[in-house]
Amino acid sequence: MITPKRRKTREVSIGNITIGGNNAIAVQSMCTTKTSDLDKTMGEIKTMLDKGCEIIRVSIFDQKDIDVIPAIKKQIHVPIVADIHFRASFAEKVMKAGIDKVRINPGNILEQQINTKDYLLNRNNAVKKLVQQAKNLGISIRIGVNSGSVEKDLIEKYGYPSSDSMVESALRYIEVCESVGFTDIVVSLKSTDILTTLENYRNFSKLSDYPVHLGLTEAGAIPYGIVKSAIGLSPLLMEGIGDTIRISLTDEPWKEVEVAYDILKATGARITGPEVIACPKCGRIQIDLDKIVSEVNTALKVKGISLPIKISLLGCAVNGPGEAREADIGIAGGDGEALIFRNGEKVRKVKEKDIVQELINEIETMQNAKILHTSEQSHV
Ligand code: SF4
Repeated sequence: MITPKRRKTREVSIGNITIGGNNAIAVQSMCTTKTSDLDKTMGEIKTMLDKGCEIIRVSIFDQKDIDVIPAIKKQIHVPIVADIHFRASFAEKVMKAGIDKVRINPGNILEQQINTKDYLLNRNNAVKKLVQQAKNLGISIRIGVNSGSVEKDLIEKYGYPSSDSMVESALRYIEVCESVGFTDIVVSLKSTDILTTLENYRNFSKLSDYPVHLGLTEAGAIPYGIVKSAIGLSPLLMEGIGDTIRISLTDEPWKEVEVAYDILKATGARITGPEVIACPKCGRIQIDLDKIVSEVNTALKVKGISLPIKISLLGCAVNGPGEAREADIGIAGGDGEALIFRNGEKVRKVKEKDIVQELINEIETMQNAKILHTSEQSHV
């Protein structure tokens, strides 16, 4: 599979993981619970971890939310990020509570919500204090610029929350952090508009090598939110832009994790398991392809198949053999039967009732051979 060439960014550690550089694009999501409701928050976090979520973000709305951070940290093995708006003082407290990263928004880090003449000076002083503390504690910061909360002076300068205003907001914030020697910075430039989001990340990536958190804010409910996220973020991923990703859906956070992995897989930006390709079916089909696709997907999960291969499930002989040959393994259906192909070679013909089992057996053999090969290499 052709994979995109990654943009070279600095490495930044978030707790026990590192993003940027050549590290895998980390998948993250955000709890929808009131953080201080520990049972509900942990319940939601577990569903996210089951799907492979690698960074968890929680809202810090009041002191009670800060108080439960140590208890959450004790129960999970992945980094936890605090989302702070309007309260620089909360950022300072949550860092002491053991958070791994803090997300702050340049447009609303102070309690004062309306920008005044003195806002930038006050904000910069508050930020300097905050990042100095982050530096001392080894905590990273995400500068989360959002189209809905760009600073007032930039809106006046550009007329609206344009891409230029958002990139300038991030760059001048970086300057404040760097002025006290703080560089453990990740940047996001999210907009609800796809074209603005693309322009934001492309322009920022030309001007800075800090790692970026990809996202399209408020993408909406499923299925539209998935479509919009895929359209908005895939071009960036295929251009090698993106070091961590969050899909913003109006749904359960674990679904965001699933969608993030699917987008990474489809773009080739990060492949963590097999890709199943299936034909749309038509009047020529003579096998129950829906059932076969569903059973293959289930079996891959149950068997824990992580081999990054292309599995082609095609209904008939029109395109079947040709396309199945281009995949690592595949089937071409016939009348109540199918041909199995592997690495371009015909393996054997199997009856319809045996297709899934035979295919999975072949895939397990491929995975075991790969594991054996890898362990032999590690002993050389
Ligand atoms: S592979 Fe065969 S069954 Fe599937 S869509 Fe193409 S022609 Fe139809």
